[in-house]
Amino acid sequence: MRLRNKPWAQDKLDAHPEYVPQEAEQFRGKWQTRFEKAQPLHIEVGSGKGRFIVEMAKAHPEINYISIEIQTSVIVSVLELQLEAQLPNLQILHADGRNLNQYFEPGEVSRIYLNFSDPWPKKRHEKRRLTSADFIKQYEEILVADGEIHFKTDNQGLFEYTLYSFSQYGIKLKQVWLDLHHSDFEGNIMTEYEEKFSSKGNRIYRLEAYFDN
Ligand code: SAM
Repeated sequence: MRLRNKPWAQDKLDAHPEYVPQEAEQFRGKWQTRFEKAQPLHIEVGSGKGRFIVEMAKAHPEINYISIEIQTSVIVSVLELQLEAQLPNLQILHADGRNLNQYFEPGEVSRIYLNFSDPWPKKRHEKRRLTSADFIKQYEEILVADGEIHFKTDNQGLFEYTLYSFSQYGIKLKQVWLDLHHSDFEGNIMTEYEEKFSSKGNRIYRLEAYFDN
């Protein structure tokens, strides 16, 4: 994600605690209190500018969503979309996805979306990939027993790595798409990266996975 310096971004996030909670660890185990209705909770780690999660929240009022993004100057774009949409089923968490268990109790989350995660192609950066073992461990901790991870990317190397990493961990694949945009998958909501890279002709890979506990 190319960074534009937005010195005002933190102030804007701070001005909207109704959507971007401060000291968000206090909501561990209590996220449902932040939404209009108590209903299944889906989170996206690394939302970028937030188009996917905002459109998902509009399309699925029966689900509560949390957009998680580490970069201040990026997550402020999610807030801007939410200020326009004012969705009662969307919250924004400014945090590092590496620490998910500080923010969520075991079994608090029903589904995790990972979209076009940074590939970190160098072997020495493997631990930064959102589908590496330390992240998976967090996902396993916070997901309900039949919870799922939905992942998509245009990066073949990251997709292959994810298949490897998930199988090493013992995660089961529910379904795999090797060319999402030329498949019969219905209801795909494109992310900003997906739009950019698919318009260049890149193939989009997708998988759904679950822990076989
Ligand atoms: N999902 C968006 C899309 O498809 O358009 C953004 C993709 S961008 C390549 C990856 C995003 O993940 C960046 O905005 C980055 O800041 C965020 N990210 C990377 N590591 C993260 C982490 N550990 N926790 C939260 N967000 C992270």
